[in-house]
Amino acid sequence: MAKVLDTVIKSDRIYIDDKLIDGYIGIKDGKIVYLGQEGPGAANKEVDATNYLVLPGLVDPHVHLREPGNSHRETFLTGTLAAANGGATTIIEHPLASPPPYNLEILFNRYKAAEGEIVVDIAFMGAAGEYNLKDIESFGKSGHIVGFKTFLHEAPAGRELEFNGLTMCNDGVVYAGIQELAKSGLIWLLHAENNDMIQYNIKEFIARNDFSPINHAKSRPPITETETVAKILLLTEETNLPVLFCHISNPEAVELIKKAKQQGRKVYVETCPHYLCFTEELLSQHGAYAKCNPPLRSEKVRKALWQYIDDGTIDVIGSDHAPYSVEEKEQGNIFNACAGLPAIEFRFPLMFTKVKEGKLSLHRFVELLSRNPAKIFDLYPNKGSLSIGADADIIIVDSEKKYKLTIDAMQSKSRRSAKLFENVEVIGEIVSTIVRGNFVKENGSVLVDKKGTGLILKPLRNY
Ligand SMILES: [Zn+2]
Repeated sequence: MAKVLDTVIKSDRIYIDDKLIDGYIGIKDGKIVYLGQEGPGAANKEVDATNYLVLPGLVDPHVHLREPGNSHRETFLTGTLAAANGGATTIIEHPLASPPPYNLEILFNRYKAAEGEIVVDIAFMGAAGEYNLKDIESFGKSGHIVGFKTFLHEAPAGRELEFNGLTMCNDGVVYAGIQELAKSGLIWLLHAENNDMIQYNIKEFIARNDFSPINHAKSRPPITETETVAKILLLTEETNLPVLFCHISNPEAVELIKKAKQQGRKVYVETCPHYLCFTEELLSQHGAYAKCNPPLRSEKVRKALWQYIDDGTIDVIGSDHAPYSVEEKEQGNIFNACAGLPAIEFRFPLMFTKVKEGKLSLHRFVELLSRNPAKIFDLYPNKGSLSIGADADIIIVDSEKKYKLTIDAMQSKSRRSAKLFENVEVIGEIVSTIVRGNFVKENGSVLVDKKGTGLILKPLRNY
């Protein structure tokens, strides 16, 4: 080959077309230009990854990076360094900034905050709420966002700036919103929990002065999630608006989505490593540090959720990285402590451990953590695959390494709130993370000097 490549990676286990190949990846100008068993010739950088596993870079479909506003929780820099640490080369950013991006002007302000900071690639979602019903169609067709996100409740007291524009607080608005969303051509993501039922339950616990942390789970039982999934499936039926149900935590809700899929509906389901690996008992142990919405579930529910990983119904596993400071976790009682886990760095090791334990095939792992999210957000095959012409987004993995997760090894600004993960035993470590040919983590070290090398992505389709 006449032209000198930028980088060649050699390994005896490169994941190409669902097979592990002994061969080489050649990279030029950020793209994969060679895949094969013969050496592709000279390169400026030659990486011998023999004995390591080489996989497509992970695509995390559910990440909150906060900025602008609330940069004490996370910034575009710290959040994307955390992504690089956890092997995510692309993240889908969910709109929980101040204000949430419910029009182009606010979105472009987020671009400004991200540019020059990010170290992995980011695709943004728009917020869809009662503030911007009439703008949803044109915002969606602008080509700048890959989907819309909505919460189905009023803005929590004191957090109006963060939530206004992102919430549809009653069914009238939801139904009107669905008609607008269906015209946008984009997928709708939502947080599916019945807020009326939950608020009723919380008031009952407060009236009884019962602030045991487990009551966070008891106040949001599986029926509160299943009810909302059922309702949204019904309300979106006539428009066939594509819907991705975020962070689904219980099998009854997934069963409803499975049936809708069987009827040909464009509905997708995400779950998270914490619903597959942890249970609600951890609320008693860690209090608000184990608080997320929906809550961790019982062992029975956790186990039953796995059958939908096995049968192919669950489409994606997202981290739902939702960083909060220690102060925000410690404030008041279990009901007013902030809900969310700084989880982006642990999505890889928690799920790869299941591969090593024989619970998850490598094929399903790649599909759930990389290929499917890239497809759903219209970034595939540029992202989510090792193929000629794709972006050279690659992770190099030590698939045998056994270790305990530790807060001290994290990049997230909210690492001190990650107590739930501390000392969890895992197998598999990210050695290097490569974004468009650029090493942002190398030989175990996250490279802070790569600040600003990430790109803001657009959906591949042109309107
Ligand atoms: Zn979220």
